Amino acid sequence: MLSRFSRCAAATSSSSFAAPRSALPAMATSAFRFINIHECDSKGLLSKYGCKVEFGVAAHNEAEIDAAISEVVKRNDKVVVKSQILAGGRGKGTFVDGFVGGVHVCDNAAKAKQAAMRMLNNTLVTKQTGPSGLKVSKLFITEAVPAIKRELYLALVLDRKTASPTFIASPEGGMNIEQLAHERPEMIFKLAIKDLAAGPSATDPDTIAFVNSLGFRDAAMSAKVMSHLQSIYKLAKEKDATMVEINPFVELNNGDVMCLDAKISFDDNAMFRQPDIVALEDKAQMDPFEAMAEKFELNYVALDGNVGCLVNGAGLAMATMDIISLYGQKPANFLDVGGSAKTEQIVAAFRIVLSNPKVNCILVNIFGGIMKCDTIANGVVEAVKQLGGLRVPLVVRLSGTNEQIGKQVLKDSGLPIHACSDLDEAGRTAASLAAAAGARA
Ligand code: GDP
Ligand code: MN
Repeated sequence: MLSRFSRCAAATSSSSFAAPRSALPAMATSAFRFINIHECDSKGLLSKYGCKVEFGVAAHNEAEIDAAISEVVKRNDKVVVKSQILAGGRGKGTFVDGFVGGVHVCDNAAKAKQAAMRMLNNTLVTKQTGPSGLKVSKLFITEAVPAIKRELYLALVLDRKTASPTFIASPEGGMNIEQLAHERPEMIFKLAIKDLAAGPSATDPDTIAFVNSLGFRDAAMSAKVMSHLQSIYKLAKEKDATMVEINPFVELNNGDVMCLDAKISFDDNAMFRQPDIVALEDKAQMDPFEAMAEKFELNYVALDGNVGCLVNGAGLAMATMDIISLYGQKPANFLDVGGSAKTEQIVAAFRIVLSNPKVNCILVNIFGGIMKCDTIANGVVEAVKQLGGLRVPLVVRLSGTNEQIGKQVLKDSGLPIHACSDLDEAGRTAASLAAAAGARA
């Protein structure tokens, strides 16, 4: 949280949360992207920082499931089987084969084994995954927690309003937190951290009031919660987390508090100094084309239209999307190739755009400034050759430095490229070609 945090609050802080932006390596120029890690790894970190979590073992196959269950039943007959996907809402999710629930609290080892085998390699759909769901390649097998008294919500986020790391919590957490936030916002409490270096302080009246408002009033309970706030804060600060979300944070009948679920996101721009976090990233849970975009340092966001866009500069990319919409078609993606597109990046960009079966026209819109039009034209021609031609019409608008040379390159290539020099003409051409392709389909 704090590298990003320090950027908005640096003026009020002398803390050493983060290197200034200029200290980042040159590659870290893409838009913000969050790195998420699995619940089991989040809990490993929380535990390392002093938070209480239940005992659990991760499993990727049947042998590991058997081993994990037999470890867990040494502590408790009841076993919880939890699908590890990078999305929430698992408890209320449903697998594509109809199996209900991505989190099962099982009475015994046999039932846990059964549930685990139904979940492993199945695809779980939750309200956060989208309709295609996410494949469960990993399970977290844990001891069931004894007698839960209350389920609370506890998160550390970056608050724009106060430009500070802020705890958000509610005494009524669990699986309906979104509904609670909507219907009874007065049940959500906030605590902005004022002293960034010190973090939450057990002697600060606001912090004490915050803990009290969560229903922890006696000194012993308050101290336990306070220590969790401090651990979570320290973790976020040292590991460059942008968010730590514990839902539920539970109070047990025996007087303990515990993190029963955990989601931690990290600032990708700080990952050059967090190799242990990078190692926890599960690329298999990423959209393969987003992973490819990341590898080639392209800023890519998939959208649900039909005109593929390949543009340099975020502002021009937005303008390009607008003009496609103005002429009655929809952009299939946002794709900013950046200021120094090399041929292999352009090839990757075409592959990514063409991976979407809905794409029926591609618009390349380049304003040549530092990047010269002939460079991009050569890149486009080379990319089309490497791809063995294109299955959709290609409109290229080049304007700026070396525009004429670039246009000549496109012409000499003999490829069926629609070359344009102004944005309006390019948008209109792409939209009408896309409409014609749509009518044929
Ligand atoms: P999510 O649905 O993806 O947020 O997954 P969670 O890890 O939060 O689990 C969903 C729900 O399962 C929690 O809100 C708890 O109510 C329940 N749960 C998880 N672990 C245990 C456990 O050890 N014991 C009991 N009784 N309930 C559990
Ligand atoms: Mn949860």
